[in-house]
Amino acid sequence: MTTTWTNRYEGAVMNTFGTPARLLVRGEGAYVWDDAGTRYLDLLAGIAVNALGHGHPAIVEAVTRQLTTLGHTSNFFATEPQIALAEKLVGLVGQDARVFFANSGAEANEAAFKITRRTGRTRIVVAEGSFHGRTMGALALTSKEAYRAPFEPLPGDVTWVPYGDAAALEAAVDDTVAAVLLEPIQGEAGVVVPPEGYLQAARDLTTRHGALLWIDEVQTGMGRTGDWFAYSASGIVPDLMTLAKGLGGGIPIGACLAVGAAGSLLQPGNHGTTFGGNAVATAAGLAVIATIEREDLLGHVTRVGDQLRRGLADHPQVTDVTGRGLLVGIVLREPVAAPAQKAALAAGLILNNATPDRLRLAPPLILSEDQAADAVTGIRAVLDEVSA
Ligand SMILES: *Cc1c(COP(=O)(O)O)cnc(C)c1O
Repeated sequence: MTTTWTNRYEGAVMNTFGTPARLLVRGEGAYVWDDAGTRYLDLLAGIAVNALGHGHPAIVEAVTRQLTTLGHTSNFFATEPQIALAEKLVGLVGQDARVFFANSGAEANEAAFKITRRTGRTRIVVAEGSFHGRTMGALALTSKEAYRAPFEPLPGDVTWVPYGDAAALEAAVDDTVAAVLLEPIQGEAGVVVPPEGYLQAARDLTTRHGALLWIDEVQTGMGRTGDWFAYSASGIVPDLMTLAKGLGGGIPIGACLAVGAAGSLLQPGNHGTTFGGNAVATAAGLAVIATIEREDLLGHVTRVGDQLRRGLADHPQVTDVTGRGLLVGIVLREPVAAPAQKAALAAGLILNNATPDRLRLAPPLILSEDQAADAVTGIRAVLDEVSA
């Protein structure tokens, strides 16, 4: 018997993800190839990570130049790209703010969680359907019971409210609340958009009660929705914002930004990280931002996102197409998201079945109009195939 990659994977890698669907060997732009030479249009981009697609020359050049100049230093020392990326992110927020760099979304949220504890209050109000990561702190703020139950007790004093319900939020927030934590669009829940005015209501309530408004932009941030940050469409400014996924374009990096006085809640000794803010990762982040600016990708994201929505909305299996920009939820009439994801893969399209009746697309921000047209044709054919 020949040893396959699945045998080797199962023999050596912990079974936390199930067996992966394919062994991928190469990527270029919006495409990846598996070990059999089959090409896939990548409409998931490593779960909203590969903002510039695969192998973008700007990231390759920035990472190569930085690694051959100065790689890792530890946070006993500062590096130029680290300072420059922090300045750049603060500039994009457009407020007096400070940055803590981490290596992932969960870690960015851990930093924010620790900041909330420095307010002297402990209660966090968080939404049902939320996903904030898998570390013990982030998990305490993640709603899925199946993820949380095996690991209890988790950090406590968490109050759950239905997402998008301003009245429920109002009933839950009082002067004992340290922070309200929300995704501006819930990604893992299947791209769920809250009603108009919800984030403004959260902003008003937290301001009134002296609580922090903590917005998790790990999935929605860095241009994915056609704005640098999804919250800005609501005209609000949060006190805490977390980033990761698209920030490094595939190089692991996370960031927690704290606006105004919240930026001084963590004091020396309160928090730390060995890798966070690493020169190579921050150089990648600078390259991602510079490329989005140079190529006007924010406008492109809005146009191509609209093209995908228009192309999919009238399929008989589709009841709604949610999200903004290139974060797209396809709401299905029947619970056929899992078979649709499998059929799509067989047809050379990578997408995600976020829930039994919701598909999620989070393609690279560089997806071209022609590639979007191929995606629409391919997804419509897949939905035909899985519809009764
Ligand atoms: C993916 C995600 C996280 C967790 O990020 P990791 O890098 O996997 O730790 C946190 N919040 C949101 C909204 C996410 O989509």
